[in-house]
Amino acid sequence: MTTPLSLAIAGAAGRMGRQLIDSALTRGHAIVGATERADHPDAACDLGVLAGHAAIGRVAQTDVRAAAADAGVWIDFTTPDVTLSALKAFTGTSVKAVIIGTTGFTPDQAAEIEQHASTVAIVKAGNFSLGVAVLSALVRQAASALGEEWDIDIFEAHHRHKVDAPSGTALMLAAAAADGRGAPLSDVQHAPYDGPDAKRAPGQIGFASSRTGGIIGEHEVRIGSETELISLKHTALDRRVFAEGAIRAAEWAVAQPPGLYGIHDVLGM
Ligand code: NAD
Repeated sequence: MTTPLSLAIAGAAGRMGRQLIDSALTRGHAIVGATERADHPDAACDLGVLAGHAAIGRVAQTDVRAAAADAGVWIDFTTPDVTLSALKAFTGTSVKAVIIGTTGFTPDQAAEIEQHASTVAIVKAGNFSLGVAVLSALVRQAASALGEEWDIDIFEAHHRHKVDAPSGTALMLAAAAADGRGAPLSDVQHAPYDGPDAKRAPGQIGFASSRTGGIIGEHEVRIGSETELISLKHTALDRRVFAEGAIRAAEWAVAQPPGLYGIHDVLGM
């Protein structure tokens, strides 16, 4: 058992917020604060009850500094704007580490996060599952072994409520493939195939997204030549995998110096 942490959870009543509270309490950590929109129907619900546990005597707040007042680690799975405004509020609080699961950041927003990492340890990952971390390592290896005559495409499917596309995980896998080929993703990313002029160029990485019902997360990386096709696929069966990965990241990050880290750093891969 690791030392119990004092955690604050952003977006406590969200799909991931509830799961994060559940996983944190199950691992023996304390939830010392949380945020949620004032107009969320469950905004006034006790945080333990939100996650199917006994009441812990705390409810979410709207003010980040108040929610973070006693926290060592802030865990944020919300939206890019909400995450960025929280990062600006931590100066002078007890927050030593921030775990960011939010996806859909623009390049400028990602650069802003990097600046905040000079004062606090930040672990940011488009996917906190162990299986996807392994998949990403396999994709990097395959892309580096196979030349540009092999095309790489990434397929992803999620639930109907998901806002951003391609998913953060699809972009993370694409970045691993690009890295395997020694190119920055921005140089090789193909826009989603659409319209009369969508033909791919050699070496580009393509994307396809679907938003159907309640799918938690499916990602498939296809690497194909004219004569062979490799398919590497991961399916998330329960949101718990992301929450458990994020809590594990929190346990690791609290002991790290300021800096920007990824899930591979947490797992030592
Ligand atoms: P969700 O919409 O269910 O939850 C977001 C919560 O944030 C909602 O309850 C919403 O009311 C709340 N919120 C909005 N504005 C707020 C504010 N100003 N202050 C406090 N709370 C606020 O979404 P979700 O499915 O839980 O996903 C959240 C994010 O996490 C998305 O970006 C998603 O892509 C990402 N995600 C990442 C991983 C990963 O492993 N990295 C896994 C799953 C989801």
